[in-house]
Amino acid sequence: MALLQISEPGQTPDPHQRRIAVGIDLGTTHSLVAAVRHGVPECLPDEQGRVILPSVVRYLGNGQGSGRQIGFDALAAQAEDPHNTISSVKRLMGRKLADLQAQGVAAQLPYEVVDGPGMAAVRTVAGDKSPVEVSAEILATLRFRAEDTFDDDLFGAVITVPAYFDDAQRQATKDAAQMAGLNVLRLINEPTAAAIAYGLDQGSEGVYAVYDLGGGTFDVSILRLTRGVFEVMATGGDSALGGDDYDRALAEWALQRSGLGVSTADLSTTERAHLLAEARRVKEALSAHAESGETVTLSTNVRGQPLAVDIRHADFADATQALTQRTMAAVRRVLRDARLDKSDIQGVVMVGGSTRMPVVRQAVREHFGQEPLTNLNPDEVVALGAAVQANQLAGNNPDGELLLLDVIPLSLGIETMGGLVERIVPRNTTIPTALAQDFTTFKDGQTALALHVVQGERDLVADCRSLARFELRGIPPMAAGAARIRVTFTVDADGLLTVTAREQGTGVEARIDVKPSYGLSDEQIAAMLQDSFATAQQDMQARALVEARVEAERMLDATHSALAADGDLLNGEERAAIDGLMQALAAARELTDAGAIEAATEALAKGTEPFAAMRMNRSIAQALAGQNVENL
Ligand code: ADP
Ligand code: MG
Repeated sequence: MALLQISEPGQTPDPHQRRIAVGIDLGTTHSLVAAVRHGVPECLPDEQGRVILPSVVRYLGNGQGSGRQIGFDALAAQAEDPHNTISSVKRLMGRKLADLQAQGVAAQLPYEVVDGPGMAAVRTVAGDKSPVEVSAEILATLRFRAEDTFDDDLFGAVITVPAYFDDAQRQATKDAAQMAGLNVLRLINEPTAAAIAYGLDQGSEGVYAVYDLGGGTFDVSILRLTRGVFEVMATGGDSALGGDDYDRALAEWALQRSGLGVSTADLSTTERAHLLAEARRVKEALSAHAESGETVTLSTNVRGQPLAVDIRHADFADATQALTQRTMAAVRRVLRDARLDKSDIQGVVMVGGSTRMPVVRQAVREHFGQEPLTNLNPDEVVALGAAVQANQLAGNNPDGELLLLDVIPLSLGIETMGGLVERIVPRNTTIPTALAQDFTTFKDGQTALALHVVQGERDLVADCRSLARFELRGIPPMAAGAARIRVTFTVDADGLLTVTAREQGTGVEARIDVKPSYGLSDEQIAAMLQDSFATAQQDMQARALVEARVEAERMLDATHSALAADGDLLNGEERAAIDGLMQALAAARELTDAGAIEAATEALAKGTEPFAAMRMNRSIAQALAGQNVENL
């Protein structure tokens, strides 16, 4: 999703009524909360001075205190209790079990993922836990931290989500925040938050790249800043590539170096977990001391025997080179998607703990031919930007606020007769937005209308993604085409859609909140867009054919009802002529030639003109007759 900023006339806040608003980075691996204090954003520490909260929740069986551990305590227990310790829950947000299985995500997680209401759930000793509930535990922990820090209630929070998060994933994030008792001021995209933290929105216009290598995911986004407005031109990456893979690669390398002839797959769950934790420690220590060229010793147990391997920085670079290359391949891909050359990039923002690795910085520096922005803490930068945004949204910024706006990644529309899509909200429309279009009934006396909300760029419903269906009932019976039904699509600031249908004459109304039950990945969005370009010509022909058939059917229906009502006005010859034209049209409708169908429809319309005139005369005569009777 692309992001825009617009200026709003600023309300000048009363300095005594400063509202406490925080920014929260709800990360796959780590989560943080930040707030603007004394004019600068800073991350809020826990009682032990740590700003990072591991995004891990462990559920305990009955009779074990509060029933759960959150953060560092949970992380420490992960090796011993992997089945009840939930990490990386962000990967499950708003996703169905089947999707997770198809993407191979479910198989990678150390706990059991099952089907749950609306989305997948995790099976624990304390019952099945929804990803929303687990995320709410993390968010509530951060909320309490902020409330303790300020000794006050929070006004609200800005929560960050990946740029590619779809409606279902965003809605799940909002639900989690609500469950945690947070007032969500807005969800904003992580790369945009990072760019804001660096103050790029205040600086020169241009195109920026955000390289975000976290614990388990890699995201790269291209942002364009125009007049203080950020737009995401393209996003890409690899949802199964992150710091954890560097840990695994290093662990594997160390085992090989040991000459024991075992790989991580041969270890027990506990030994493997300890080895991976140790590999991570070594990795982080190496990047802290990269300059000194010092060696770090990895020590662990393999099949009960102690093992120690000395690791130099060059060894680490060797062991992980393929991973860094994969991120750079994704960078090249996203630049291609945005039709940009690396020389078009004005600045590169580094985000995520893994961008501390000198090997990564080096690769990025070489590719872009410039020094990436690294002076802010890469763990904190997203939360800091969110805090700046939260402070502005809370009205604490005296010199005019900036509001963040997203755009819709794929067009939204409604199914019309014949399985065609009528696009109502075109892709890249900035949100919040409300757009309406009028529709009418197709059949005489039709009292209900089925509405089918779809998403996608293709002309045929069958090629788009179905989001929701609902019905408008209680339309007063009218002739086909007489009812006026206004369908309004409202997309709120978080990208959530409500569709309303209202018959204008009577005011009968139906509405639906669209919460798609499963999500689309950014790859799927890209594929749908590509499809729509590739097939535009074919779609146009298909649309013409369907439209011709719908029109033919409408004409046949109208003629049938006219004949039923006033057929007695026609003599045998006139009637036979109309019947002949109707048969010809019915036959033409079966063809795949839109032109032939249109011609036959036109012929019937022309051929029934005299009949229509006769009917008109009769109805005028009847109306006058009625008048007379009433007037007498
Ligand atoms: P996420 O956005 O997925 O929550 P983070 O941005 O917090 O993730 O990044 C977590 C990753 O950063 C982990 O894989 C961790 O090992 C890695 N990391 C943190 N510090 C360092 C460091 N000094 N050197 C290398 N990697 C680091
Ligand atoms: Mg992150």
